[in-house]
Amino acid sequence: MDFTLTEEQTALRAMAAEFVDREITPNVVEWDRAESVPRELVPRLGELGFLGMTIDEEYGGVGGDHVSYTLVMEELGRGDSSVRGLVSVSLGLVAKSIAAHGTEEQRRRWLPGLCSGELMGCFGLTEPDTGSDAASLSLKAVRDGDDYLLSGSKMFITNGTWADVAIIFARTGGPGPKGITAFLVPTDSPGLERTTVNGKLGLRGQPTAQLFLDEVRVGADAILGEEGQGFRIAMSALDKGRVSVAAGAVGAARGALESALAHAKERVQFGRPIASFQLVQEMLADTAVETDAARLLVWRAADLIDRGEPFATAASMAKLYATETAVRAANNAMQVFGGYGYIDEYPPGKYLRDARVTTLYEGTSQIQKLIIGRALTGVSAFV
Ligand code: FAD
Repeated sequence: MDFTLTEEQTALRAMAAEFVDREITPNVVEWDRAESVPRELVPRLGELGFLGMTIDEEYGGVGGDHVSYTLVMEELGRGDSSVRGLVSVSLGLVAKSIAAHGTEEQRRRWLPGLCSGELMGCFGLTEPDTGSDAASLSLKAVRDGDDYLLSGSKMFITNGTWADVAIIFARTGGPGPKGITAFLVPTDSPGLERTTVNGKLGLRGQPTAQLFLDEVRVGADAILGEEGQGFRIAMSALDKGRVSVAAGAVGAARGALESALAHAKERVQFGRPIASFQLVQEMLADTAVETDAARLLVWRAADLIDRGEPFATAASMAKLYATETAVRAANNAMQVFGGYGYIDEYPPGKYLRDARVTTLYEGTSQIQKLIIGRALTGVSAFV
């Protein structure tokens, strides 16, 4: 096994780290309090190539491998999970799905703008009454001549209020996964309304929306893949997406550890730096071990993708372990900071609030365990 990064990967990671230290970290408290990162950050992410990773150059991307992608996601996650999430969705779930399943026309229409950050994408799977059991979604697409009319609602849609294009998963057929079709819907389509989901505990810098569709008309050329393939497309996007979330969680865990370490060395109690107390060192050591283990799971999953081998179970393992690690890491960091950790000016609170949601979205921790359990036993425990 060789865990040595290539020269390109090392340089890319350094570039992402420098960007985070210079343009993200100094602003996170302000963006968190304002409940928004600046919209201008999106083209900046495009300019750096972060929104075009793994997408072919002929469609405006910068190419590259998935291990490189996780290195950038780790750095962004260390800086601000809201920023990491914008990329994970617009590139990871939307652009990659269009690249993998889109027609030539769809690729040429959407990918250059998504990669440059001129456009943003959102991924509309969850509905108010349909979360973990996504195959039971009810937003309808009814055939009307050559067109489809989409009606229903989508909930908790990351990038939803900013996005220019939404992948909307809709029911075109009978119940269950085979009745679902994916549509590429421009968000300025008549009949599409969106409202902000306010009051999020974490990821406050990124826009989250509820979408309402009332007979939104799209042509058959808006179908991504083929009719009835939507659920398969959603699951394959989420398999890769989980690696991206996991990489971001490793970054958050690392950020929490680094802040706790710096504080522990500086803070003096009982006449000594608190870093010298064994119980404090235990928290730091636990976090360091778990963060490293999580990173190795992430790299293994990304490496399997790059090799073209099955990776879904490895992705679920990485997502489960890395996101739960990020929560524990941030919680430990808060403990090391003592009372200061409970004030939003200091890093642990935000790391904790942001990490918590990563165990909920793109499949909760329970759902990851069911996926891993199904792979182990051959028996699905979903229903
Ligand atoms: P439920 O499915 O109702 O689950 C509630 C609880 O029941 C959980 O603990 C769950 O693990 C448990 N549970 C459910 N079924 C089982 C089972 N079979 N066995 C054991 N336990 C079970 N969705 C999108 O489509 N696009 C997005 O961009 C997006 N972004 C999001 C951003 C944020 C900030 C948030 C909070 C959510 C986002 N989501 C998005 C939605 C997210 O993916 C769902 O919230 C998630 O899938 C869980 O669904 P739910 O909230 O309906 O919970």
